[in-house]
Amino acid sequence: MAESPRSDVIQRKPARIQLNPSLVAENSKPEQTGEVFNIWYSKWTGGENNGKIPRSHSKHRCNVELDSGYTKADKYIEDGKINRSQYFCLYFARGYCCNGKSCQYLHRVPTQNDVFPTTVDCFGREKFSDYRDDMTGIGSFEVVNKTLFVSNISTINSSTEAMIRSSFGEFGNVVNVKVLPNRNSAFVSFRLENQAQFAKEAMQCQSLEASNKSETLHIRWSKSVQSQSSLENQETKVLSIEAAKRMLDSLSQHQANKRFKTNNGEVKVNEVNNSQVLPENTGLDMETISKLGQSRKNENQPTINLIPGYSSDDDSE
Ligand SMILES: [Zn+2]
Repeated sequence: MAESPRSDVIQRKPARIQLNPSLVAENSKPEQTGEVFNIWYSKWTGGENNGKIPRSHSKHRCNVELDSGYTKADKYIEDGKINRSQYFCLYFARGYCCNGKSCQYLHRVPTQNDVFPTTVDCFGREKFSDYRDDMTGIGSFEVVNKTLFVSNISTINSSTEAMIRSSFGEFGNVVNVKVLPNRNSAFVSFRLENQAQFAKEAMQCQSLEASNKSETLHIRWSKSVQSQSSLENQETKVLSIEAAKRMLDSLSQHQANKRFKTNNGEVKVNEVNNSQVLPENTGLDMETISKLGQSRKNENQPTINLIPGYSSDDDSE
């Protein structure tokens, strides 16, 4: 039988409820590092930007084979198409989503068909321009990082590498493992960035052997990839500035057009065609626009004014 390109994505069984909400008392919900704990009731909205790694061993663990299945998110994914809009369930990755098939997020591991804007991770969380100093957290949109730094491995021996490949391999395609025996640590590289993102959450505060509760792994992003991709980043920055200039021109035209119409009350007086202001006509894709917006947010001083001339003063004209 010919293998379907999306055979790894099609979910034939409903996602299993990992944690029964009726068994969860208000004061015993899983520990959160985020700002809002609301997946129990509706959508998860973000938060978790402090990146703090809990000290204790995780109480829950995602079992991909048993737990994964279709959710409400799957109905929005067209067969054979690249998924750009449906994100993965962070709580599924951590092993305690209580929504099962009614979850709004995907309950499976990421594949190459899951391609998201560079400004967010596979869980839809916004990345930052820089890593945190300790390399925890969501990560940087400046770097494609597929390598995790795993520390706190309790015992290093001849079978450690195989154990790492087996445990981390549950959440993605592990392409390289480098064990550092003297540091009780290892570098684990994945084929895909989204798999590294998923595995980082799934294996945080877990152990190489699920039954070993005395081991609590700490997982950070590897630093070493930063220098490798710095040239690539410089090139991207130059291209972004060029693209931003084109967008500025287009947006100021749009702004002039808008004001003209408002002040006159006429339906159409201006020559400017509306199609000129569509994102595709700025020469920018939505990812880049989003990225530019994000880079403004991350810097104290805005380097690029995306909407020139638009301020509260304009309304008093
Ligand atoms: Zn979920």
